[in-house]
Amino acid sequence: MFRERVSNDIYVFTSEVYAQVTAGAVVTKEGVILIDTLPFPTESREMAAFLEHASRPGVRYVILTHYHADHTYGSYLFPQADVVAHADCLELLEKLGQPALKAAQAEEPELEEVSIRLPTITFDEGEISLQLGGRVMRLIHSPGHTADGIMVYVEDNRVLFASDTVMPVPAIVDGNTDVLRESLKKVVELPIENLVQGHGEVILRGEVEVVVNASLNYLDTIEKKVAKAIKSKKAKESLRKIDIESCGLSRIPLNGLVQQIHEANMIALYDRMKAGG
Ligand SMILES: [Zn+2]
Repeated sequence: MFRERVSNDIYVFTSEVYAQVTAGAVVTKEGVILIDTLPFPTESREMAAFLEHASRPGVRYVILTHYHADHTYGSYLFPQADVVAHADCLELLEKLGQPALKAAQAEEPELEEVSIRLPTITFDEGEISLQLGGRVMRLIHSPGHTADGIMVYVEDNRVLFASDTVMPVPAIVDGNTDVLRESLKKVVELPIENLVQGHGEVILRGEVEVVVNASLNYLDTIEKKVAKAIKSKKAKESLRKIDIESCGLSRIPLNGLVQQIHEANMIALYDRMKAGG
């Protein structure tokens, strides 16, 4: 796990084991607000130990940005904290997250101790705010990667935890391109000093618009390329020949995992567009 301080009392933890997943923490005198956890217990425990020293009251809230395993599997380490999420996250954790954990535990002994904590505070309107120790955070519904996605905006430091709304490559297999576009547009409306992606490096102020525009352009490009393949009756598998660079994004980030995410996007989009006519 890699730890960095991005602003006063705001930390980002990045997994060195799986897909550079990030978790974040806002440390106050009254306790810590944790934004997501890390995929594997060893790293989440390391993060928990650091936060225990950082603030005596400990972690008071764990905000889950969406139900996916890689962001939620460490919440069991904070049994005293309230778990905050979008209402759809609660539903998706019950319906999909819990059975998926059971299946994962059969394959991965390290996950044996993991259990899913369900959200105790949920919201289903567009936005709520959360306050602790004088810090104000806005929790903003930002679906598109998943239906339950939220971003966390720390007002006074202008730090945005964008989660998987912003990634080195948008991932839409479990989501929707049109909805994600709307959420990406919400990102650039916020004044931002640091943007924490759900995976990969922290983005600085001057780069935010460039990154968001590259994501929007990528979504347009894959839709066009998939539509063209369908129109010319190309086989679905032929889409794998269209690499990520030809869709305007680098193949380097996340140790190359972006190409796999890109291929999965193309295949999912093909099935979706074909079904939709
Ligand atoms: Zn995700």
